Amino acid sequence: MVGEYPSQQIGRHPLKHIVLIGAGPANLIAADRLSASSGANGLRVTIYERMPSVGRKLLMAGRGGLNLTHSEPLEPFLARYAEAAEKLRPAIEAFPPEALRAWADGLGQETFTGTSGRVFPRALKASPLLRALLARLVEQNVEIVTRAQWLGWTGEGALLIAHGDGRLEEVKPDATLLGLGGASWPRLGSSAAWVDLLTSRHIAVTPFAPSNCGFNVEWSGIFCDRHAGAPLKHAAFTFAGQTVRGEAVVTNYGIEGGAVYALSPLLRRSLEKHDKTTLMVDLSPEHDIAYLASRIARQDKGSSLSNLLRKALGLSPAAIGLLREAGRDLPRDPEALARLIKAVPVPLTGIQPLTRAISSAGGIGWDELDARFMLKKLPGVFAAGEMLDWEAPTGGYLLQAVFATGWAAAGGIEAFITGRG
Ligand SMILES: Cc1cc2nc3c(=O)[nH]c(=O)nc-3n(C[C@H](O)[C@H](O)[C@H](O)COP(=O)(O)OP(=O)(O)OC[C@H]3O[C@@H](n4cnc5c(N)ncnc54)[C@H](O)[C@@H]3O)c2cc1C
Repeated sequence: MVGEYPSQQIGRHPLKHIVLIGAGPANLIAADRLSASSGANGLRVTIYERMPSVGRKLLMAGRGGLNLTHSEPLEPFLARYAEAAEKLRPAIEAFPPEALRAWADGLGQETFTGTSGRVFPRALKASPLLRALLARLVEQNVEIVTRAQWLGWTGEGALLIAHGDGRLEEVKPDATLLGLGGASWPRLGSSAAWVDLLTSRHIAVTPFAPSNCGFNVEWSGIFCDRHAGAPLKHAAFTFAGQTVRGEAVVTNYGIEGGAVYALSPLLRRSLEKHDKTTLMVDLSPEHDIAYLASRIARQDKGSSLSNLLRKALGLSPAAIGLLREAGRDLPRDPEALARLIKAVPVPLTGIQPLTRAISSAGGIGWDELDARFMLKKLPGVFAAGEMLDWEAPTGGYLLQAVFATGWAAAGGIEAFITGRG
């Protein structure tokens, strides 16, 4: 069945119809901005979401504490987006971390800064924020249609929507915002099925790749049995001249965790070219080789090497196991052992799949967008969020860019509709 919305009027002004496809954080904040002033602007806002409920990835992100943004100053903050930093700058400057915090506050979700500078809602979970936002969207007359999958455009340029009950609907809005997400965790909705719909319209999309993901290591059986699940705390991880202090976790397939995620773009690029690449781990970043060697030398020569490392240096069983993985016969010479502790080679043999990555690299190329986040080849069609070509480490940088681009695209739509900009 083909359905068309009847045209509506507020006073003498015909309502402009804005369709948002995808109900992730990028489009939900855009809907909030567009509908907040809908009376004045004469906008009618509809969201179509293919899943039975909205914001599934946002809810998943809230499971371990929703890291909304980060409190560091704007310049180092922007540097986290590497090559995409200058592309994202206008959106993040216009909607910086303080604006995101104020927006969450306005929804009754006060935020706090954790010890690492990361910003979380007091409730920690995403559900209270999502609930409050949905209530406001309903108040602002946003129509949210779930189990409604966008399939592309008809020959006449209408959006083709497949409803859960089998109905097909054609909609011809005044502007469309695509907020379809990246390609990680597809079971939460963002399956990247949209890529072909855009590339068939000659829009360049950088292929998706895992970001903030784990890496494979061929651990020995004994190490894996003993230490899978154990953290490597207070270590420093180095690759290609970049060092990240923090924590990683030994897994049965290899290694994952915050510090490894931060290096994932560099490690991924290396593994795209080579079968193997080596991550270096400093198990005692606070101390230099001379200090470690003197501590080792001072210990009772009769005690086992494991006891010595545990007592003299406070290394965890997993850290000691990692040393043994690097060279089964650990050197007895204090200086040689200290050198190994400062630079344990961990050979990575592969990358975990996109389906298990926290986020994805790749997406719509920046050259395809104008300053309003409108696709140059498809006037009236805008895009925001993780479906654009950027990546960032965990720490709140993902959601900040998602919300900021959603906010900016909504502003772009307002300008487009009113003929400004
Ligand atoms: C386990 C996990 C933990 C995370 N933790 C954090 C964190 O703490 N901090 C942080 O900053 N980030 C975190 N992230 C990342 C963050 O959740 C995402 O970057 C963010 O959700 C992306 O928002 P988005 O709106 O661009 O896309 P999404 O949230 O992916 O939303 C896109 C929506 O579009 C819908 N859709 C797709 N195609 C169609 C279609 N054809 N028709 C209709 N609807 C469609 C999807 O169903 C989906 O609901 C985490 C991610 C994961 C997986």
